[in-house]
Amino acid sequence: MAMSTRAVEAKASVDTVTSFFASIQDAASDPDALDFTFGNPHELALPGLTNAMRAQLEPRSVDWFAYKTNERPAQEAVAQGLRAELGLDFEPDDIAMTQGAFGAISLALALLADAGDEVVIPVPGWFCYAPMLHAVNLVPVGVALDPVDFSLDVDAIARALTPRTRLVIVNSPANPTGRVYPKETWDSLAHVLDEASARFGRRIWLVSDEPYRRIRFDGIGFTSPAGSYPWTVIDYSYGKVLLAPGQRLGYLALSPLLRTGEREELRAAFMPLQLAIGWGFPDALMQYSVPALESVSIDMAELTRKRDRLYGALRDAGYTLTRPEGTFYLWGQAPGGDGAAYCEALAARGVYLMPGTLFDQPAHFRISLTATMDMIERALPMLVEAGASA
Ligand code: PLP
Repeated sequence: MAMSTRAVEAKASVDTVTSFFASIQDAASDPDALDFTFGNPHELALPGLTNAMRAQLEPRSVDWFAYKTNERPAQEAVAQGLRAELGLDFEPDDIAMTQGAFGAISLALALLADAGDEVVIPVPGWFCYAPMLHAVNLVPVGVALDPVDFSLDVDAIARALTPRTRLVIVNSPANPTGRVYPKETWDSLAHVLDEASARFGRRIWLVSDEPYRRIRFDGIGFTSPAGSYPWTVIDYSYGKVLLAPGQRLGYLALSPLLRTGEREELRAAFMPLQLAIGWGFPDALMQYSVPALESVSIDMAELTRKRDRLYGALRDAGYTLTRPEGTFYLWGQAPGGDGAAYCEALAARGVYLMPGTLFDQPAHFRISLTATMDMIERALPMLVEAGASA
């Protein structure tokens, strides 16, 4: 076998996702298909995004497109934005610019974990945590969220910690459930992690995966665990709020509560480790665009209307759903209890949803609200009928 063991394991852990992706590729590219699967755009890009990039496109110096590492104006804009959003004292040096949240998570793994270390991840949770961990010889340890309301089960996390645990990954607003966790959750998690780190004689770090941080409904607030637990790194992506995941841009940020020695050590390690993981910086053009992009967002009023329309109509049709507090996903129980069969039946009618099997929850499904209102209206009769006929 040509492949490394870790490649075999990484591939196996994401097979349900890649084979689902392949299975819908042809069908979902049909212009009449109603594709609610991945969080992709279904309308032309935001003018704020294209304007920001256009303003930086014309070279202003010979080194405009030279090798670029962590560009200072980008770090400054991010630190300023984080200070305003989270009320914590971020400095530009706390920020490493990355290729989206994917790149930031890779950097966090390289900075903090050693081969064989265990990493706690939420179930249901984003389907790329496990393959990313396998690919760098780390061991995913899935911990179930509360089965009823999908809140974080801190006691279950406490039970999963071992002397080999090095990282815990949390995600709020959460994919696929749309839940946003309150400060009390972070405070009790901080307590558990601090206690376990002392007991095992080894610091357990927290990775707060926050790419949906700015996508929240009904004015619900956001708190980051970085304000409760100093050993937290935040990963962020602009791909969600700009709805342009193909333009890779994000960052990793250190919690300003980290004590000086550790903070200095990690700051100094950013750039060498970004080199080590294979030039883990965003393209020059995206970095130059950061100051302008900080204030650009998808239309939250329209996204709220789409959430309300779908959630309301499906709830009235008898579906059991989690009302999203954030993200652009709607998470529900498949009528009949078999998410894969339910999604296949709808796909046969041209409506594509994501089966819960991709999140280790075979009785569920996920709908992406990045579809247009027109697509939602066209799909609703079939979704309502599928609910009634189960
Ligand atoms: N984390 C979560 C929870 C996600 O849902 C995603 C993308 O779907 C990512 C990280 C990666 O984001 P990006 O592709 O913008 O880097």
